[in-house]
Amino acid sequence: MDVLAGLPGLVLSGVFGLLVGSFLNVVIYRLPKMMERQWERECAEMQGKELPETPDFNLLTPRSRCGACGTTIRWYQNIPVLSYAFLRGRCGACGTGISLRYPAVELLTGGLFAWCFWAHGPTVQTLMWMGFVAALVALAFIDWDTTLLPDDITLPLLWAGLVAAALGWAAIPLTHALWGAVAGYLSLWAVYWAFKLATGKEGMGYGDFKLFAALGVWFGWQALVPMILMASVLGAVVGIAMKFTSGLREGGYVPFGPFLAFAGLFSLVFEPGAFLGWLGL
Ligand SMILES: [Zn+2]
Repeated sequence: MDVLAGLPGLVLSGVFGLLVGSFLNVVIYRLPKMMERQWERECAEMQGKELPETPDFNLLTPRSRCGACGTTIRWYQNIPVLSYAFLRGRCGACGTGISLRYPAVELLTGGLFAWCFWAHGPTVQTLMWMGFVAALVALAFIDWDTTLLPDDITLPLLWAGLVAAALGWAAIPLTHALWGAVAGYLSLWAVYWAFKLATGKEGMGYGDFKLFAALGVWFGWQALVPMILMASVLGAVVGIAMKFTSGLREGGYVPFGPFLAFAGLFSLVFEPGAFLGWLGL
């Protein structure tokens, strides 16, 4: 694309990505807590217990607060990246450090959204891939934090990919997408059971199968092998590195979802098998 002609679109897409990234920070923090509350309520219902009324807690309410002092964050302290830089990474009220991850998630999303526009221009494909990016960024960080991959994100991601393929918006035919879902799910499901029967341990969860199925839908069954290779190698490297730096959490469990998500985002930017080519394979 002509850089100058595309510049306004690129900038707009990047800024849109920063704003979406800011929202994703909320999703990453709140969605697992919302799910936990839901489970508690369902458990209580099954046992016939009455839970006390709790204040609304969803993606929109209450307004964001400082985790340390509870001060509500004002709108001008909530501008992606800029506010973090202006506040020098500290809460405006109590001075407690704010995690660098917030602006990092915003910048990552902004960069990838700009890339979507760069690759696809002002088309419906750009919006479609922006949705894909947002889902994967949210899943990667939620799984890293909580080892959960919420169905609320993995399943719509899978269905959206199938619809996109059926409408001819995706770069692959619907049959490739469909077999991608089937093979993606079943391959990890089989590995999970083989591993469980052999060692008695669970190396993955059902969320991983659904996420891999969704990636199979978006890139076609042919992309599954390069994506699983990349995710496994990265996961092993990070797992070993964390073992040596004793950064491993209790139980020594490294969630697999973030590496699958990374393989998905990599496939979007470079195409699924690109790193095999880099390795000379
Ligand atoms: Zn504070």
